[in-house]
Amino acid sequence: MSEPIKYGPALLLPGDQIGITTNPNTEPFWLAAKEHRLTACQCGKCGHFRMPPSPYCPECSSQEVDWPTLPGTATVFSFAVCNKNPKDGADYIYVPVVVDIDGAPGARLNANVTGCDAEDVHIGMKVTVEWTPIQDDWVLPNFRKV
Ligand SMILES: [Zn+2]
Repeated sequence: MSEPIKYGPALLLPGDQIGITTNPNTEPFWLAAKEHRLTACQCGKCGHFRMPPSPYCPECSSQEVDWPTLPGTATVFSFAVCNKNPKDGADYIYVPVVVDIDGAPGARLNANVTGCDAEDVHIGMKVTVEWTPIQDDWVLPNFRKV
């Protein structure tokens, strides 16, 4: 049996490399992130969560939305280990994840995970939000191993 690959610490992509754009449907998410509040788009009529946010609820077609403050914890649904910085191709270990957001059934978020070695990231791993300043004074939710 071969030895498992050792990647080392899972880093976050540097915030100064990350820019976002917002629109009226997504801006409440990013404004909450600036306050270090994790939220998700929830239908104001039937309670269905949807991420990314969209103008109409796919369940009941309502345009009413709520942005509840969530616990800030999540569970890794899927991940990949990357070993090059996408900006310049330099060696750089980071782990993009898709997480299931606690308190928002059905809502998932893309992020990076840190706080452990990349080879230790696994599906079902519990994580908690970590706020990363990015371009233009926005703040990005990433996650850290609990
Ligand atoms: Zn609905």
